[in-house]
Amino acid sequence: MDAIELLKSHHLKKTAPRVAIINALIAGHMPQSEAEIKSVIGALYDRITFYRSVHSLLEVGLIHKIVVDNLLVKYALNDCANGHTHEVDHAHFYCKQCNAVICLSHIKTPSCDLPDGYSESECDVLVKGYCNSCHQRN
Ligand SMILES: [Zn+2]
Ligand SMILES: [Zn+2]
Ligand SMILES: [Zn+2]
Repeated sequence: MDAIELLKSHHLKKTAPRVAIINALIAGHMPQSEAEIKSVIGALYDRITFYRSVHSLLEVGLIHKIVVDNLLVKYALNDCANGHTHEVDHAHFYCKQCNAVICLSHIKTPSCDLPDGYSESECDVLVKGYCNSCHQRN
């Protein structure tokens, strides 16, 4: 699916910044940060529009976000073609050397046995280390 089809299937209006963000994520092949998306979309970038667009894409479940720390947040397309689940059900990997983040789609987040009266809204699993290309240099 391309950006326009994705927006349509999630009942979101087609706007230039939304299309540009989705295209940047498709082209990036892995989760992208705001700075990385900005460098791809160029003149269409504007901080407020970016946050508004990302918010609407998150809300309809077209993308998910990976919070590495308070300085680094990455965004990834959801696997809508595959059963159309919008919950983040998988772990992520963060490379401490090159700052790459990848979706570990085959590693499911655990279901947690919480104390009585507690309820879970999300569960983030982030594995940190070195990716295959950085590993060789360490
Ligand atoms: Zn979807
Ligand atoms: Zn790396
Ligand atoms: Zn992911």
